[in-house]
This record gives sequence, structure tokens and C-alpha cells, in this order.
Amino acid sequence: MSRPQNSRDVRLAGLARPSSSMGPSSGAERAPAAPKEFARLRASMRRIPEDEPADAVVIGTGAGGAPLLARLAEAGMHVVALEAGPWWESPADDFATDELDAAKLYWLDERLSAGDTPEAFGSNNSGTGVGGSMLHWGAFVPRADPRDLRLATEADPSNGKGGNGKPSNGKSTRAGGIADWPLSYDDLVPYYEQVERFLGVSGPESYPWDPARRYPNPPLAINAPGRLMQRGFAALGMTASAAPIAALSVADGERRPCVHRGFCHQGCRNGAKASMDVTYLPAAVRAGAELRPLCFAHGFERDPEGRIAAVLYTDSTDPERPTLRRQRCRAVFLCAGAIETPRLLLHTGLANGSGQVGRNFMAHVATQVWGTFEQPVHMDRGFPATVISEDTLRPEGVHAPGGYIVQSLGVLPVTFARQVARGRGLFGAALTGYLDRYNYVAGIGINGECLPSPRNFVELSDETDARGLPKPRIQFSYGQSELELADHAGRLLTAAWQAAGATDIWTFQRSAHMLGTCRMGADPAASVVDPFGRSHEIDNLWVADNSVFPSSLAANPALTIMALSLRTADAFLHASSN
Ligand SMILES: Cc1cc2nc3c(=O)[nH]c(=O)nc-3n(C[C@H](O)[C@H](O)[C@H](O)COP(=O)(O)OP(=O)(O)OC[C@H]3O[C@@H](n4cnc5c(N)ncnc54)[C@H](O)[C@@H]3O)c2cc1C
Ligand code: SF4
Repeated sequence: MSRPQNSRDVRLAGLARPSSSMGPSSGAERAPAAPKEFARLRASMRRIPEDEPADAVVIGTGAGGAPLLARLAEAGMHVVALEAGPWWESPADDFATDELDAAKLYWLDERLSAGDTPEAFGSNNSGTGVGGSMLHWGAFVPRADPRDLRLATEADPSNGKGGNGKPSNGKSTRAGGIADWPLSYDDLVPYYEQVERFLGVSGPESYPWDPARRYPNPPLAINAPGRLMQRGFAALGMTASAAPIAALSVADGERRPCVHRGFCHQGCRNGAKASMDVTYLPAAVRAGAELRPLCFAHGFERDPEGRIAAVLYTDSTDPERPTLRRQRCRAVFLCAGAIETPRLLLHTGLANGSGQVGRNFMAHVATQVWGTFEQPVHMDRGFPATVISEDTLRPEGVHAPGGYIVQSLGVLPVTFARQVARGRGLFGAALTGYLDRYNYVAGIGINGECLPSPRNFVELSDETDARGLPKPRIQFSYGQSELELADHAGRLLTAAWQAAGATDIWTFQRSAHMLGTCRMGADPAASVVDPFGRSHEIDNLWVADNSVFPSSLAANPALTIMALSLRTADAFLHASSN
């Protein structure tokens, strides 16, 4: 890769100033960090000078940023990660058995939500801090189904499965819409295996929908909602299995096994859950990467050739005196998630010759069905989601190219109360009366394909936030495909819950996760980055987060994001060595 010019040669491409003043290696051979190690790691962390170009600056430290940070550091690169949120150094002290306290893990900057099915943000789908949304993720890690990577082909009207009323000829269009992935399942498998091994995924000995697959650890104990799901599915003649979960069922090095207390979404206190702060990020720091928490990236400097020469950011380590800073670099990886990544590109006007930055925002169809059982269920006990079914990946009688997976649910009281208010319209005495039954209630939910659509996108609004930057506005409306999947799931899950013995069954329609907005593809006119995550327009700008997905897949996204992150890192290392 060619080197950037010295600092006098750079020109500002950036933003309005803020208003306030593992591969074969990738840590795989090392035990991930135990929580108590954090302070030591931080104290010994290498510091990279700002006025010397780092080999790469990584913006964001979640599922997209963390794995590649580790891989690049282990390859000997000088890498710096800028993370808008704080670094929680001691999960045992910082993460409480307290739903309300967990709000500190959510990305709560205001986002404007628009469309017919506007997205709920915050706790539902976005996090912040060293480790990103993975600090409070559910660690449910199915792989993508191979067919889901060929959605445009599957949506071809000639096979009667056209989605969203938009016929597809198997190719993406300039206006966006359904597209096949520019890679195959076989391309992903070696990376899936690396991630599963490194995180210590727990799963069944034989996975019913891919019997040849092997998980490194035995499955976690199935909790009561999981057993009810197995009962209901068995009655319908369907298969339900222990799920693949990125939490340890047995000790692994210094990481302790899961103690089944169910507070995963509040941050795991003992390091059993494979969040990035106890896995890839300690590996990255040990290998020489620098993490800069409370550092928000908002602009870039470019050299005369138009390449990124430096990242501009605000360091809020001292909240009273945020400081504008600048890190010179040879390459940048945008890993800020499917809203902040396109927001930064739209704001700086970079890498958008295709007009695709911000387009095709997707959120999984996440319909839930709830019911009351005669015997106590105690859904707050155990790992929250322990059982999966992939029988519904191509549901019969649905005019949609994709499908959904089903998972058992465990939702804690405060979150559940909010869902009951939103989904069932109960307030006051009616709400508290229903919540008295909490110990007898259990749920079952889906993660369903959301087709990319030109109707759904992230744009900059006219309102500015506390940093002086335009707030993002997200347009999101279900199309025919999502509506059909939600309806099918509502009926099937209700039947399963009836068969399991539930009464007073109700359906909660919701969506989850954030995807798309900087899609990858081979065609520069129809995508933002190439099949390895490199910008078509600026050759030292890469994207590695949930924004690169060309379609949503039915699987929960994080395993695929981490696999893609390692693949992007390998592509960068390969390009750098030439
Ligand atoms: C409650 C919850 C449960 C979930 N459960 C599951 C699950 O069970 N299975 C699954 O597969 N997925 C799950 N997910 C989704 C999964 O966590 C995300 O898909 C994944 O973390 C996205 O990775 P990312 O790297 O794109 O973004 P993130 O992990 O969100 O990381 C982005 C990071 O970038 C930082 N950032 C943003 N803007 C800037 C900036 N300008 N400068 C510096 N830093 C910035 C943010 O603070 C954040 O830390 C869940 C998510 C949530 C919220
Ligand atoms: S249930 Fe297991 S993984 Fe979840 S927070 Fe508790 S110990 Fe961690």
C-alpha cells in the first residue's frame, strides 16, 4: 500500500466541528482474558503516537471492529481503535444484576425513527462501550443458511417466490433492492469455525440442520421456556434443538463457565458470555493494539490522491473538556454499526458514488408469542434463549423468498413489562395485574428475513445533536415479505404454544437488529464496498460491521459479522503485503 503524504499535504474532507469545545492466530492459541486482567492489560497497553501514521485506525469495537483489530495486531500491525463509549474494566464490579443499570450499555444518542413500522432503537438493538453492542447481546449464534446468501436468485418471480412485490432478475439494481451476496457459504465456513472455536461456542453434539457441524463445547442447560418450546414443536412434528450459544458451558482458560443467572443482556459479570471485551479485544491489546475509549470519530483528512490520511475525533476522557484530536493513519476501518457508519460517510460525503450509502436499511422480523402456563416457568432463570428451530427457513405457503428461525425466550421483568405495555396495550392496574403472573409466563420468538428495499434507508436530518452533527433519520416500513413472515410466525408459534399447554396467548410484533446501509457487492455502481469490505472509491477505506450485509439472512447476525471481519482483515493483510 502506498504511504500517505506528510501532515502538510493533507486536506480536510471532514465535518462541522463538534459544538462542544484470528485466524489461524488471532488469539486462538491464548486463553481469553479473565475480567480481573483488564486493569493490567490497560496499564501495559502500547500507545501509538498520533502524529505517526498508524497502520490502521478502527472506528468502533463491536462484532465488526474487535476481531479484525486482534487479527491485524497479531500480524504485527500498529492499530488504534477509537470507541465512542467507555471501557468497563471490571465486569464483576461494573455490571449489576439490575435491568435499569444496564442502560449505560445502550447507544442512546437520539435517532429519528420514521416509516410505517418505525424501529425502536436504544436497548433493542444498539450498544456502546469497548465491546460495542456485544456487551449486552444475547449470544445466540446460528450460522447463515447457504440459501439465504442467494436471496435474489430465490426471489426470482419464475420460482413463485418474489418478495416485497419487486421482481428480481437475480441482480442488484442501482436503486437498491434484493441482491445475492458476493460470496458463498463455503467462503464463510472457515471463518465461522475460527470464531466458534475462539469464542468457545456451546452447542449440540449433532446439529439437526447440519449434522456434520461440530461445536467446541457441549450445550448449555436448557431452561424452562426451552423445554416448553421442545414440547410444543414435538407436538407439531417439528424439530427443536439445543441452540448454539457463545457462552461457555465449561471453563476455558481463565474464563469461567455460565452460571445460568440470566442477566446476559445486562453485561455478563463473570466473563462466560463471549462479548468482545473478554475475547477479541484483550487478544488485540496483548498483541499491541491500542484502545481509546470515549473517543468519537467525526471526520477525515485526505491526502492529495484522495486517500484517508487521518481520522479526526473528539476525546471525552475529561467530560468537562472534550478535546479535538487527530490520528494519522495508512488505512481506516469503519466498524461503527449500520447507522453510525453510513451517518459518518454521508456527513463527510465520502465513498458514495453509487448513491448506496445509507440505502437498504434492514431489521429482522422478530415476532414473539407469549402465553401463560399452569405451572411456574420462571423464565428469568437460566441462559435466556436455549432452544432453536431452523425448520421454518422456507415456510410453506408464504410468498417470500426467505424464512425465519425460532428461538425460546427469557425476558426479565422490566423489559417484559415494557413489551406488555407496547404489545398488548396494557397500562396501570391492568398491566400490573398481568405482570403478577410473570413467573407463569413464557415466550417464543423468531428472527426472520427482512428484504432490502429502496423504501428503507438512513439519511441525515436537519436536526443536530449535542455534538453539532446531523441526527440520523431512519425510514423503515415492512414490505409484503416481512408482513407475510410475521403473520406465518404468529400462527405457527401460537399453535406451538397451544400444544405446549399455554393459555391467554398473545402476539407481539417487533423487529430487531440493524443491517445493510453500506452493502457489499462486486458492482461499484450498486454497492459501497467490494466483496471483502474495501470501499470501491477510496482504497484505504474499509467497512467491517453489520452495514455491509446485502440481505439480512434469517440467522442472528453477530457470528456472520465476526466471520466477515476476520475475512476483511485477511484481505487487508494480503493487500498490504503486495
Ligand atoms: C440487546 C441485544 C441483543 C442481541 N442479541 C444478539 C444475539 O443473540 N445474536 C446475535 O447474533 N446478535 C445479537 N445482537 C446483535 C449484535 O449485537 C449486533 O448485530 C452486533 O453487535 C453489531 O456489530 P457492529 O460491529 O456492527 O456494531 P456494534 O457492536 O454496535 O459496535 C459499534 C461500536 O461503534 C461505536 N461507535 C459508533 N459510532 C462511533 C464513532 N463515530 N466513533 C467511535 N465509535 C463509534 C459504538 O459505540 C459501538 O461500540 C443483539 C443486539 C442487542 C442490542
Ligand atoms: S446466564 Fe451465563 S452468560 Fe448470561 S450473564 Fe449469567 S453467567 Fe453470563
